Amino acid sequence: MSNTILKVDQLQKEYSGEIIYKALKGIDFQLGENEFVAVMGPSGSGKTTFLNCISTIDRPTSGVITINSKNPYDLDDDELAKFRRNELGFVFQDFNLVHTLTVEENILLPLALDSVQANEMNKRLTGVAEFLGIEGILKKRTFEISGGQKQRVAIARAVIHEPSLLLADEPTGNLDSKAVNDVMSLFESINKRLKTSILMVTHDAYVASYAQRVVFIKDGTLYNEIHRGKNKQQFYQEIMDTLAFLGGGQHEI
Ligand code: ADP
Ligand code: MG
Repeated sequence: MSNTILKVDQLQKEYSGEIIYKALKGIDFQLGENEFVAVMGPSGSGKTTFLNCISTIDRPTSGVITINSKNPYDLDDDELAKFRRNELGFVFQDFNLVHTLTVEENILLPLALDSVQANEMNKRLTGVAEFLGIEGILKKRTFEISGGQKQRVAIARAVIHEPSLLLADEPTGNLDSKAVNDVMSLFESINKRLKTSILMVTHDAYVASYAQRVVFIKDGTLYNEIHRGKNKQQFYQEIMDTLAFLGGGQHEI
């Protein structure tokens, strides 16, 4: 068993309003170093809440989250900002690029915030742009590029500081099928070549079949998990079968 990069113990999240809503009801989960895991489950089952608690976007009600042996919730604001920039990379469905900046400026943003030297920034930019095949669009504005290209740029921004954990929420949700294939191949290379651990939420069984393991959330609890063997097609079928059993399959977002 490889080292654990992420450990989640008895994670609970309640949203308070007129009535208290329990979105996560005590989740235990571990992600190994260099593992690529997909999270699936019906709409409203708690997938985004789970990811947001791990990424520190959303504070857990109770439970412990450990990333690279550190509990991000024990850190003060400055330490946390640094921790997020150094240890985590984020990719979202709607890309979250800054529209007033060029592609290059978007990618360099995390390094600029960390006051990395200009020559080091350029070296990293060249490397990541080549890796992601976006050398030709670095000077463009975000409205001049396609959805698939936007997601490549967002991925470049997420991996330029070589995070230990890449978190992605429906990264292919706004992409056409060709771009879906491109983005998933990139995730595969990031996992294999850069050795980055990946935790990715998706409602798409085909996308999930790129992962080594799929965990299913239902009503705020971990319901099941399945592992990919040698055969990706068979894994895809098992994912589809589990989703059918779970209720709320492919098309329920
Ligand atoms: P999923 O990503 O699986 O579709 P979410 O994690 O977004 O589900 O949401 C889980 C449940 O928590 C849903 O019932 C949702 O309505 C509720 N929820 C999510 N965010 C909030 C919030 N900020 N306030 C209140 N309820 C929320
Ligand atoms: Mg969601």
